[in-house]
Amino acid sequence: MTLTEPTAEPDCLTVDRLPGDVAVATLVVPGHRHNVMTAAFLAALRRLLDDLARQPPRGLIVESGRPGSFLAGADIDRLDRLWDLPEAEVIAICDRGRRLLDRLSAAPWPTVAVIDGVCVGGGLELALACDFRVAADAPGTSLAAPEVKLGLLPGWGGTVRLPRLIGPGPASELVVTGEPVDGRRAAMLGLVDACVAPAAARQAALQLLGWAVADGRHLTRRRRQAAAVQLDPHEREFLEATTAAAILGRTGGHYPAPLTALQTLLDGCDLDAAAAAAAETAAFVRLTRSSVARQLVRVFRLRERNRRDSGLAAAAAAASAEPTADAMRPAVVGAGIMGAGIVARHLRSGFTTTLVDIDADTLARAVPEIVDEAAWDRRLAAANPQRVRELTGRLLPTTSLAAAATADLVIESVIERTDLKRRVLAEIEATVPATAIICTNTSTNPIATLAAALSDPSRFCGMHFFNPVRRMLLVEVVRGAATSDATVAAVVAHAKRLGKCPVVVQDSPGFLVNRVLTPYLHEAVELLREGVDAARIDRAARRFGMPLGPLELYDMVGLDTAFYAGLVMASAFGDRIDASPLIPAFVKAGRLGRKTGRGFYRYRGVGHDARRQAVDEELATLLEPYRLPERPATDREITDRLFLPMLLEALRVLDEGIVRDGCDIDLAVIHALGFPAFRGGLLAWGDSLGAPEVLRRLEQFADLGPRLAPLPRLHDHARSGRAFAGLA
Ligand code: NAD
Repeated sequence: MTLTEPTAEPDCLTVDRLPGDVAVATLVVPGHRHNVMTAAFLAALRRLLDDLARQPPRGLIVESGRPGSFLAGADIDRLDRLWDLPEAEVIAICDRGRRLLDRLSAAPWPTVAVIDGVCVGGGLELALACDFRVAADAPGTSLAAPEVKLGLLPGWGGTVRLPRLIGPGPASELVVTGEPVDGRRAAMLGLVDACVAPAAARQAALQLLGWAVADGRHLTRRRRQAAAVQLDPHEREFLEATTAAAILGRTGGHYPAPLTALQTLLDGCDLDAAAAAAAETAAFVRLTRSSVARQLVRVFRLRERNRRDSGLAAAAAAASAEPTADAMRPAVVGAGIMGAGIVARHLRSGFTTTLVDIDADTLARAVPEIVDEAAWDRRLAAANPQRVRELTGRLLPTTSLAAAATADLVIESVIERTDLKRRVLAEIEATVPATAIICTNTSTNPIATLAAALSDPSRFCGMHFFNPVRRMLLVEVVRGAATSDATVAAVVAHAKRLGKCPVVVQDSPGFLVNRVLTPYLHEAVELLREGVDAARIDRAARRFGMPLGPLELYDMVGLDTAFYAGLVMASAFGDRIDASPLIPAFVKAGRLGRKTGRGFYRYRGVGHDARRQAVDEELATLLEPYRLPERPATDREITDRLFLPMLLEALRVLDEGIVRDGCDIDLAVIHALGFPAFRGGLLAWGDSLGAPEVLRRLEQFADLGPRLAPLPRLHDHARSGRAFAGLA
């Protein structure tokens, strides 16, 4: 990445002089959704400072000419080139950027940033380099230092300026979590000097400049910014210990950036600003050398690709009309675990939603829970009472399907019984307008089987959400043989309006996610039958980075549900997946997992809030009839046994064209299963090993038969050196 000065770049910064000789620099970076720090932008900023040095103003206001966007951080393409650069060059990039911002903060006149819209990453660092900040009190105003989410830390003075401005505690919180704050919260923190109505922001900035010119208050600020921060050693110790513990709890030690950011920020407090800046650069460079940052940036790109994606191949997308959405009148049929979560998501995204269930008691129970979930306020750690009132009016619960007669999109989420689903879908079709789209949230029924119940299957597809809906971002949009392009495009667009990440999948048993999940779950049970301790199996998966081990996951999903799904998968892929005899034995014994307080583990209480205790003592007895010959395994072998079959299944999915490419698989497993993002997804993990190493590891499992046998495709990859995953 070189910061060469382009000669004929479009203007990213225009300058006006107001009466009173205040300069206003207006940012508009063309060709991007947000203003971002491209090479052209940085060159424009340098030119601006040169020009102003020749004709000094009384003060400078920096504002954006693009609604909703002050300045987002570095252009991601520039970030993505860091990994392969020599350290010295990364240091030079940090130094050049920081020197540029230092020029702004040392200007002979006071400076104010007017923040209306997104101000994150490098954008926040630029705002911090100004003497003062005014935030617009508007819903789109958002300030954040989200670098840790990309495995990095603020590299242009953010860890230095923030604690000097708002104190080490709040600064750590911002930098370590990467979470945004709105204008009002920023004002409370002292991150901005004022939060005012958007129309009053320019005036507030002029007033701040006037005061600074009159009494030199900006110079006092600059002196404070240059010095060390007085941080009491006890306070520091407390802050360090509590924040580090919270980070470890959240990241399991797999993500180095938050801890490095914390340490850098706190160490920098003891130093003057110049020395703290040098330490920040050193830490930034260290993070660019880890594979975690590279993978997280790739995942960010996958999300961006997904955001732009219509769900159709390019030619079909060009031919089909942009789906209209504003008038969506959605309805959900089935108020169970999933239907309730889906409706809550709709309400939260602003849709007035009809909810149909045959059982009035279920509806009565579901309604308050749905509204509370939809009105949940993270900051309050509770439902916001005002939102509860608003959203209650937008939820239309009913036991009569006739209430969905004007719906234009219906999601069927009744219990997983094929005959019932077919009947309900036919009733929905008879009720809604002929143009309405009909979706099913089925996990296991082929779309073709359900589509056969409809007279117009072109407007029908799967819209498969994951549990819990509030947390899992993925939605599989399952395309049946008869599903039209327009239906796919409309459902993809709708999923995005719900804040979800839709991936289009062809109709096939288990679709994508359950298909790659099944070998993982199956292998865990085989390991158990071979004598490997249950807790050890789950520990291996967690150490790999999964949020839950496979046996814990069985207990969460429910052994009855898993049994049924396993049957479907075994009947489709019996050559490598047999329905394990252990699972029906558990179901017969009433050990259904969390919902009955017993599964592989014992729980205190039942249901979602049940607390896991220990591996159930009776497990050994239950296992007895199903034992396989003992096969001792190292921790590495356990991990390989769990994840290599998953990788093999993902490659089969690619071979069969179930998804468009490996990027979709990686995105899907991260957003549906919590597959570790720091590994970049399942195929990216395979790439980190390389096909020859995958083949070598599979050799040791040759006695286990087809489920761990290498695929021809693996040999191709080994020969060609081609990656499994591909780039976004
Ligand atoms: P659930 O048993 O919790 O809820 C099903 C609801 O459907 C019940 O409230 C029931 O009263 C209602 N219902 C039954 N017949 C009906 C009818 N004729 N009209 C209207 N309502 C009717 O089930 P769930 O776990 O919410 O699953 C629903 C669907 O979502 C299933 O297809 C399931 O495979 C799928 N799914 C479940 C999960 C999961 O983890 N639970 C994950 C993804 C998808």
